Amino acid sequence: YETIQVSELAKLMGVKVGELIKKSLQMGMPVTANQSIDADTAAILADEFGYQVEKAPIEEEILLQYIPPSPEELKPRPPVVTVMGHVDHGKTTLLDAIRKTDVASKEAGGITQHIGAYTVKLEDGRIITFIDTPGHEAFTSMRARGAQVTDIVILVVAADDGVMEQTKEAIEHARAAKVPIVVAINKIDKPDANPERVKSQLAELGLVPEEWGGNTLVANISAKKRIGIEELLELVLLQAEMLDLKAAYDRPARGRIIESKLDKGRGPVATVIVQEGTLREGDVFVAGLTYGRVRAMFDSYGNRIKTATPSIPVEILGFEDVPQAGDDFIVVDEEEKARKIAEYRQRKAREAEAAKEVKISLEKLFEKL
Ligand code: GDP
Ligand code: MG
Repeated sequence: YETIQVSELAKLMGVKVGELIKKSLQMGMPVTANQSIDADTAAILADEFGYQVEKAPIEEEILLQYIPPSPEELKPRPPVVTVMGHVDHGKTTLLDAIRKTDVASKEAGGITQHIGAYTVKLEDGRIITFIDTPGHEAFTSMRARGAQVTDIVILVVAADDGVMEQTKEAIEHARAAKVPIVVAINKIDKPDANPERVKSQLAELGLVPEEWGGNTLVANISAKKRIGIEELLELVLLQAEMLDLKAAYDRPARGRIIESKLDKGRGPVATVIVQEGTLREGDVFVAGLTYGRVRAMFDSYGNRIKTATPSIPVEILGFEDVPQAGDDFIVVDEEEKARKIAEYRQRKAREAEAAKEVKISLEKLFEKL
């Protein structure tokens, strides 16, 4: 923390603790040898002995010092995709249909876990990660917390209904986040489906399909009848290629919490999308206001795994406390460090909370006046 023990301060200045205490008494700000004083108090006392106190960078900055990877460290990573669109246009049905195209889940006997995200492996081995919670609320609340995990948005528009209010909102959110949109015109199996009308509605909003000379990738699908799903996934991978998504693999992992809960039997459980590096069983980490050690790790099929690389979602056991969706997740080398950072963050959070309360009560006071 940003405090120092009085005896420590005396030692640093090369004066006797007694002298320092005596001085503090004379100054009317008595301290004791074992007392921890803040930087401002230390500065006043030190000044009396001709020293200046320099505030060191906060512990978190030292402990979590981040060195960005060099270009040589970067390797391709799979895209992370979020499905958005108007209510009832077929987001959930599409996520379900995509899951069923997954070759790996067939290998795993078709059993999939709900962990907030899942990976789909295509016939040729390429992988796409899907965030399992559709809708723009999850997307924007994560983004509000500085947690952008999505690389591509699939915008689902029902071919019978066309562009609706939440379609427009989804477009705005994706644009604000600078995330490219791949359009899935859904429900083409319906007799009143009119995909061409949807395309012109989208073109009016600036999403001009490729076939019309624009650069928006559009697939006609039926999530329910499972028509056009593979074509849609091809377009997503094409879009991903254009983004040239890369990450460093050979370094301690960093990622984001996308879902968390307190499990009766297993304790705090959370799903993390690894964004950089390789996460290993046994790794020590900080996540938001908490920390822990990876006791066990599971993929989206419920298989226990030992390592996870960039863009892969994993369910993790071993948190001290339940983290929040959107929290960062950073592997550090020592448990002691992890605990210190978490404690530091908790203290900061409490201070911010207290400051907020003061502000609120002041506002109330002014209201009354
Ligand atoms: P969400 O609110 O966007 O998640 O929409 P849902 O996936 O829950 O779908 C809403 C309704 O549309 C459900 O009754 C689905 O069965 C239906 N639906 C979804 N996709 C299709 C489709 O491709 N064709 C038809 N005919 N119905 C669909
Ligand atoms: Mg739904």
